[in-house]
Parts: sequence; structure tokens; C-alpha cells
Amino acid sequence: MRIAAALALLLAPLLAGSEELVPTIPPGYVPGADDDEKGLWVEMEDYERRLQRSALRVRDSELNAYVHDVMCRVAQDYCADVRVYVMRNPQFNASMGPNGVSQVWTGLLLRVSSEDELAAVLGHELAHYTQLHSLERMRRISNAMSIGSFFDLGLAVLGVAVPVGQMTAVANATAFSRDNEREADLLGVKFMAEAGYDPNAAASVWRMIIEEEERAVVKRQKPGLFTMTHPASEERVANLEDYVANHLGDVGQERRVSNRHIDILELYYPMLMEDQIDTNRYGRTEAMLERHRELGVDDSLVNFFLGEMYRQRGEEGDMARAEQAYKLSTTGAFPLPAAHHQLGYVYMKRGENDAAKENFEKYLEMEPESDERAMIEFYLEDL
Ligand SMILES: [Zn+2]
Repeated sequence: MRIAAALALLLAPLLAGSEELVPTIPPGYVPGADDDEKGLWVEMEDYERRLQRSALRVRDSELNAYVHDVMCRVAQDYCADVRVYVMRNPQFNASMGPNGVSQVWTGLLLRVSSEDELAAVLGHELAHYTQLHSLERMRRISNAMSIGSFFDLGLAVLGVAVPVGQMTAVANATAFSRDNEREADLLGVKFMAEAGYDPNAAASVWRMIIEEEERAVVKRQKPGLFTMTHPASEERVANLEDYVANHLGDVGQERRVSNRHIDILELYYPMLMEDQIDTNRYGRTEAMLERHRELGVDDSLVNFFLGEMYRQRGEEGDMARAEQAYKLSTTGAFPLPAAHHQLGYVYMKRGENDAAKENFEKYLEMEPESDERAMIEFYLEDL
């Protein structure tokens, strides 16, 4: 009895809170003309124009169509109020400003394992927008600095490398409160479930983040921006699981099974993975590649980038590991020409001329229009 009563007390705030889980602003919301909020919107519009022009903006139509579609499904009646920009940055991050302008970084696309997980993150960000958390945050920021300089620092719109210390300061100053985070978690999962996505995906995103950060701590690497502003914790995962089980338990049973995320991932894999490898965060990269293999990303792609990672890491024995991975990449269902290209260089350096020749020739046969044709033909003369 006593336990049951204590449990009821413990659950009461959660249940009471969740009954009020409704969006604060209606679809089509705009601030009043003499509201201070209006000024922030004008600044945000200026920032949005910079996003549109940014060299880091990914303009590929299929990738954009996919992200827009998931966002619109989750946003439903708010679809017309939000605009999403896919930005080339290998960190895990998504955000939505007070006027509905949002960003999805390519590092997020590399990390989520399904369309449902992407929907979970977008639902969370949408909730920050509909609950005016983003507005409150922007007010705080604008008291300290101009919005433009905030984004230069924190979001690296122009590709500026920001020192980690400065990034941490910005992240701390701009983090949402715990209550805001909790509300965004629960309303976000409600949005995605209503859109027909599996609400269990929300907890799995946070679990993935926790796992990656644990690996990173081992390697003494700094956490990414999103995890600085969104502390992932077991508590957070547990709260989400409770909420889904108690309020959305009847959904998530007969979900659409979509492989769309993996198809998109494969299509843009070279661009996404090259950026990740260039971070030199080998622990994270290796974990990511392992996960992609489990998810069913084509083996030739995974093996090729495993080879790239070893080559770049350059520890003892890594060249042999790279060679092995490139070789595997050439024997899959869809062998990558680039793997032959890399093997050609590996063997040429090692003085194994026959093997170098064979791989360079194979590469040119598969990529006759290659920019490197003249150079490789020059090498071939000496092999
Ligand atoms: Zn958040």
C-alpha cells in the first residue's frame, strides 16, 4: 500500500504535466507588430538569408526532399510555418529558431538509424518552437550578443572553426532549461506518434547519443554541440520510455516499416562520411561504421570508408588494415572504383608494381572520365 501510494505521488507530476501537453502557439502564428518578438523575427530572417547563401548548405534535391517530408509529416498543421535547411557539418545537431527556421546537420543524418529516429529529433525541435522555448532562448542570447555573432560562433554558418572553449561557453549560455527539455521530449514524441512514426525511436536516439559519448570519453574527445546543449542521460531515456508506455502504448505496434533512411544514406554516403572521417575522431567514426554495417548499409561503402579511416589514422598496422578493407570493398555487390584507386596507391608506395598496375587499370576502366586520368596514366608508364 505504502509503495503504491509513494509511486502514485511520484507519477502525479508526470501525468498532470502530460495532460497539458498541447502546443502553446497555433499554426500560422506570427508575432504582433509592436511586440519585441517581432524584432527577433526580423533578425532571424536576416540570418535565414545567410543560411540560404551559405556554402555549407546542402542543395541536393533528394536529400532535401526527404528531410522536408519527414519534417512536414511531424509538423502537420505547422508544416507551412517551418523551413528546414540541411547544413554540411559532421556534428550531430538540429535546431529550430523562434520563427520556424530550422537546421539539420549532416552529422545527424549519419547517426540516426531510421526515418523514425529522424522524426523523433525533429519532433523535439518542433516542440521547442511551439512552446516558445526557442523565443525565450533567443531573447536571452540577444541580451548578450547580436544574433548574427551568436550563429557565427555556435553554428559555424560560414565554416569558421570555433575553439572548443568558446563553443562550450556559447553552448552553456544557450542551453534550454531542464523543464524545457523535458517538455520538448514529451511533446515531441507525441507529435511524431500522431504523425504515424514509432515513438519508441525517441528513447533510442538518446541511447545512441549516450553510447557515442561514452566511447568519446574513453578517447578523451570533447562532446559535440548538441550534447553540450542537450545533456543525454539515463533519466531522460527512462522518462521517455515511461511516457511512451503510459500514454502512447497503443501506438507503435503497426508502424510503417520504411527503409528510406538507409537508401538516402547510401546515396549520399561519400559526402557524409568524408566529412566525418576528416574530424579525425576515430573512435566515433569506427562505431558509426559498425552501426551502419548492422543497419544494412552496403558493405562496399562501409568497407571503403573503414579503409579511409585506417589510412588517415596511420597507426602501426593501419596500412595493412586499410588494404584489407579496400580489398573487401572491391569484392562486394557494388564494388567502388575509389577502392581500386586507393589500392593502386597503396601498392605503388610499397613497390608492388603489378598489383598497383592492375588496380589503377581497373579504376580507369570503371571511371573513364576521372579527373586523375592523366596522372594515373603517367604512373602506369613506370609500373
Ligand atoms: Zn532540446
